[in-house]
Amino acid sequence: MLDGGAVASQIQEEVRLAVLALSKERGIVPCLAAVRVGDDPASAVYVRNKIKACEELGIRSEHHALPHSTSQQMLVDLVASLNSRDDVDGILVQLPLPDHIDEAVIIEAVNPLKDVDGFHPMNVGRLAMGQPVFVPCTPAGIIELLVHNNIPIRGANACVVGRSQIVGRPMAQLLLQSDATVTICHSRTRDLPAVTREADILVVAIGRPGLIGSPHIKPGATVIDVGMNKISDEAEIRALFGDEARKRLEIMQNRGYTLVGDVNPAEAAALAGHLTPVPGGVGPLTIAMLMSNTLKAAKLRRSDY
Ligand code: NAP
Repeated sequence: MLDGGAVASQIQEEVRLAVLALSKERGIVPCLAAVRVGDDPASAVYVRNKIKACEELGIRSEHHALPHSTSQQMLVDLVASLNSRDDVDGILVQLPLPDHIDEAVIIEAVNPLKDVDGFHPMNVGRLAMGQPVFVPCTPAGIIELLVHNNIPIRGANACVVGRSQIVGRPMAQLLLQSDATVTICHSRTRDLPAVTREADILVVAIGRPGLIGSPHIKPGATVIDVGMNKISDEAEIRALFGDEARKRLEIMQNRGYTLVGDVNPAEAAALAGHLTPVPGGVGPLTIAMLMSNTLKAAKLRRSDY
């Protein structure tokens, strides 16, 4: 099992020390502004965790929690004011936004030099050109996980299942940049198992509980499960978790659900060389990379870095 939490802690400790040094030597304290619109409970938890991580690492943070009724123009105005403030280094607008707000407009409103999520077209383009500045946090964290665990990427057959802007596409770009031979699959891929079975490194980000199983996995492959799905069906839990089913059923009874990734955990454990657990695999790395991007933004905006 690849321990995402351990790698995330290591990255966060490095960021904490670098933040301390920046503040001692230069009097600069990095600042992240997090913006959330509406009352989606999952978004509230995500933002809270990001703010908490800032506090732990000595990064200043601001939490702008706006009501669901906020108009697109009001949000653009807030982003513009954060862009213009010299004391704000990173801007994060938590997605998804309510339906009446066009996410693309908001993403493009963020100054690319403060775009710590790496979603602005300028940063997406730079990554595609092999000249990354800010890279989306989840795929950046997965590369860190592979590197920290000495899993060779150069020359490997890598397959990414899912082509979202947040995970799949940037993941494929990063693997390519690390000299893997990359295949991208999606919902229209013909004979998915035949393609994924060729992969030495298989990254799955599709949002389909346990869909990737024995037929999809080459024996010995490294399987990275990005999915985070809540399930509460007892039969489904028994079918997916094998020996661990009893523990997961207890969790489900206490919380009302248990988390499963996009990979069938019991089947993958029997075949994969390395596997990320859910939870505790990819998740913790996302926040660690956000902290790392915020530090980078604080340095980049000052021309002598
Ligand atoms: P998304 O935007 O919904 O994209 C899903 C992708 O999967 C699409 O490209 C879709 O193909 C593809 N897909 C769907 N069903 C498929 C199938 N049966 N076979 C092959 N491809 C299929 O999802 P996302 O935002 O990338 O998120 C994916 C998962 O990762 C979710 O469970 C999410 O909660 C999780 N996630 C976790 C973290 C973390 O920090 N751990 C961060 C981000 C996301 P088409 O393009 O053809 O529709």
